[in-house]
Amino acid sequence: MHSHHSHSGDYIAHGVDPLEAVTAQAVKMKFHTYCLTEHMPRFEAKYLYPEEWNSKRDESAAIAKLQQDFQNFLDHAQRIKNRPNPSNTKFLIGVEVESCDLNHIEYARRLVEENRGVIQFSVGSVHHINEIAIDFNQIEWDRALAASGNNLKTFLLAYFDLQYKMLRNLQPLVVGHFDLYKLFLPQDLRVDLETGACGTSGTPVSGISLINQWKEVQAAVVRNLQYIEKYGGAIEINTSALRKKLPEPYPGKDVGLLVKRHCGGRFVLSDDAHGVAQVGVCYDQALNYIVHELNLEKIYYLTEAADRQSVRLEAVPIDQFESDAFWRLYRAPK
Ligand SMILES: [Zn+2]
Ligand SMILES: [Zn+2]
Repeated sequence: MHSHHSHSGDYIAHGVDPLEAVTAQAVKMKFHTYCLTEHMPRFEAKYLYPEEWNSKRDESAAIAKLQQDFQNFLDHAQRIKNRPNPSNTKFLIGVEVESCDLNHIEYARRLVEENRGVIQFSVGSVHHINEIAIDFNQIEWDRALAASGNNLKTFLLAYFDLQYKMLRNLQPLVVGHFDLYKLFLPQDLRVDLETGACGTSGTPVSGISLINQWKEVQAAVVRNLQYIEKYGGAIEINTSALRKKLPEPYPGKDVGLLVKRHCGGRFVLSDDAHGVAQVGVCYDQALNYIVHELNLEKIYYLTEAADRQSVRLEAVPIDQFESDAFWRLYRAPK
């Protein structure tokens, strides 16, 4: 079994358990490959989350702490990677890029470059629209929509345009939670199907495919997927959406079918765990989604070359993936 995206409470404020406990759980569950991909530091005060400020609200101290935490993470991750473990779980070291804005994307490129030899790949994610976090809480999500003129189509185009800039700059091997904007999408939101304007009249958003409703949005997604196909990246199926009680993982089926068409169906699997209880979480639902909704023929994973540094994508046929011992041990009874 694989996960290409994880965090811990040691190095990120909203994580739950220590990195040692998270990785011990991956070993206990006999993961074949488990990737440690802590968030890269943010360096502007406006992007700090409330829990990252100290009591004195000292900006430079808060930013310096993020830098130090990240270096500590890289050191610790290398120790875990280089240490034998009873399941021979392969730990790979990555970094999750947040893509707050263009400056941050450029900074990510430099950071990966400077730590070449340690960081093996990046998870390219977008967490902000109009410089406002979309995965923090409902108030912030609403603010991000308001900053798009309360227009859902404009909001989605801003997300996919920033994602495209991130892809062009970083060419991340794993593209994180492709449709993260749906996390706080209010199901009773009403939208004008022509213009994308949100208001009290219009169609409830719950009944429509956000991707296929507007041809400009679909074209932006296809553009991004074709670019990922060209440089050889993969899209993660991220189960944190299921853990947060969304009906589908990231990405949903509308995006998933486009990945099959435009990006060679190159999917990897991720739990995006922030604690022990989230290692391999909702993987049985993900298996059902992979086999019965997307009908994938293969699933991909990252594997390390003999130099123990460079990584590449490798495919497993779905029948082999389905017969992994993991499912006998950890699949919830029907
Ligand atoms: Zn993320
Ligand atoms: Zn993450």
